[in-house]
Amino acid sequence: MAKIGFIGLGNMGGPMVQNLIKAGHDLVVFDLSADAIKKATDAGAASATNAADVARGAEIVVTMLPAGSHVSSVYLGDQGLLAVAAKGTVFIDSSTIDVETARAVVSEAEQAGMKMVDAPVSGGVGGAEAGTLTFMVGGENAAFEAAKPYLDIMGKNIFHAGGAGNGQVAKVCNNMLLGISMIGVAEAFVLAEKLGLDGQTLFDISSTASGQCWSMTSYCPVPGPVPSSPANRDYEPGFTAGMMLKDLRLAQTAAQGVKAATPLGAQAAALYSLMEAGGHDQVDFSGIIKLLKGTL
Ligand code: NAD
Repeated sequence: MAKIGFIGLGNMGGPMVQNLIKAGHDLVVFDLSADAIKKATDAGAASATNAADVARGAEIVVTMLPAGSHVSSVYLGDQGLLAVAAKGTVFIDSSTIDVETARAVVSEAEQAGMKMVDAPVSGGVGGAEAGTLTFMVGGENAAFEAAKPYLDIMGKNIFHAGGAGNGQVAKVCNNMLLGISMIGVAEAFVLAEKLGLDGQTLFDISSTASGQCWSMTSYCPVPGPVPSSPANRDYEPGFTAGMMLKDLRLAQTAAQGVKAATPLGAQAAALYSLMEAGGHDQVDFSGIIKLLKGTL
């Protein structure tokens, strides 16, 4: 069994740790929150007093942090993970962060003699708890192969998307598409209702016609047609509008860096920023339909 370090025990990292413990591995964990550490130690993990101590003696280190600035500060510098870990340590950063930082940190890791992948996830807290996350992985083949047995414990679908940073590229492109498609589906349902066509009838037709997409058939933004969708529980998340906005902003930053035209992605970010400005960032992202209806 491997000695695994884990840093970032929040909504996602907490349950990911539980699954690694259940698989029989030895976990050493750290978080800035004492409560988050306690949940992991109650489940059998050992705790460290800082991030660097997690990396000392670990064979594998997983990080699940909010943003690129947190990842840089934990990995780099004199007391960063890369400075204190033994050469050959395998690092898995599963945070969703900007592509540029992901590539820079993996490059630093390789120069320090480590193996590292960026491995952001989709599947949300439910997927983290069930061990069914999708991992989108960027990095060298050897790093991917070294990380895969542990990703297999925390996830169900593991994709090697190419070199360093390509996991983050896959994640922001997918989520930009998701944000755009959710707004498109919401607009169609709002228009149909105003024109006298009820939501269930539009769903029955469109879900088998050319307007069909995941935002409609698995996550329909009106109550009724898809019983499991957050629309049936007053848009309780799920995946919050704030998280969607974070990913849309990452997509815009990445697009600007390579001069890619993403006008619908920009518009989606603008609409979700209205949800944030109105204090609705903790509402499920499908709640954008209420913004379009003027009922948010
Ligand atoms: P979270 O805010 O619940 O957890 C982040 C944890 O990191 C917190 O416990 C915080 O205390 C800790 N932390 C921050 N800085 C730290 C540091 N320097 N050292 C140690 N610990 C530190 O966030 P989350 O929902 O678990 O998301 C984590 C990442 O996964 C984010 O990048 C997010 O975008 C991504 N993600 C989240 C979801 C979701 O549904 N929650 C889905 C897909 C991807």
